[in-house]
Amino acid sequence: MSNKFVGAHTSAAGGVFNAVTNAEAIGAKAFALFTKNQKRWDAKPLDTKTIEKFKENLQKSGILPKHVLPHDSYLINLGHPEDEKRLKSMEAFLDEVQRCELLGLNKLNFHPGSHLKQISEEECLDKISEAMNRTLDKTSGVALVLENTAGQGSNLGWRFEHLAYIIDKIEDKSRVGVCIDTCHMFTAGYDIRTREAYEKTWAEFESIVGFKYLMGMHINDSKPDLGSHVDRHDSLGKGKIGLDAFKFIMNDARMDDIPLILETIDESIWKEEIALLYSFENQ
Ligand SMILES: [Zn+2]
Ligand SMILES: [Zn+2]
Repeated sequence: MSNKFVGAHTSAAGGVFNAVTNAEAIGAKAFALFTKNQKRWDAKPLDTKTIEKFKENLQKSGILPKHVLPHDSYLINLGHPEDEKRLKSMEAFLDEVQRCELLGLNKLNFHPGSHLKQISEEECLDKISEAMNRTLDKTSGVALVLENTAGQGSNLGWRFEHLAYIIDKIEDKSRVGVCIDTCHMFTAGYDIRTREAYEKTWAEFESIVGFKYLMGMHINDSKPDLGSHVDRHDSLGKGKIGLDAFKFIMNDARMDDIPLILETIDESIWKEEIALLYSFENQ
């Protein structure tokens, strides 16, 4: 039995329950989804029928709730320098966490935030952790999963130190985690292409953040180069990272039992990419 739970960010068009069906169709053992339109602020509340259908589909699929990694809206910026805009983000973020609660899911993946060159990195990270603490106070059972970023523009979270700084300020450490995106990691300057580089990068991760906080990964190759700070995914083996890094991951027990989610650019080959990743095990 494999201890790896590989899937993709599947479409929830027509209802969140469809994300489960779409995951099953590509042989996924995990999946990510948006529980609302990711490009809009407002959303219809989840109705009882939708919630029941989601839970029923999930149960039938055999995919465990802990292997589902919902992603929040791209509009949310918990580190926004302007109070009014940050409050709007916090409201939308609370709604996202509550939607996860209703669906019986225990994680929400999000990008930490951006300082928009108006405040210092530290001030921005403080605002993010404060927003997270307030959200945790109002909810239960859902962990807030910080995603590392490529560091494009003024996006924070690209250095392991940013993630560690935020985690340090979270009051309930049982409900905070990180999701490491391989493309973002690579373009942020963390090399994983060779065995030596891979071990060095993860040793740094362990000493700064800690594997106990690793709650998921995004498995993407990268179009841009190492350290370019540009966020552009590629299909596995087609980009600058290459396949070796993904072989290392599939044989690394530190990535057992967490959702490993493809966000690669050609969804028509997700099924093949999932099969390819599983074929790397025990090689
Ligand atoms: Zn990602
Ligand atoms: Zn990305």
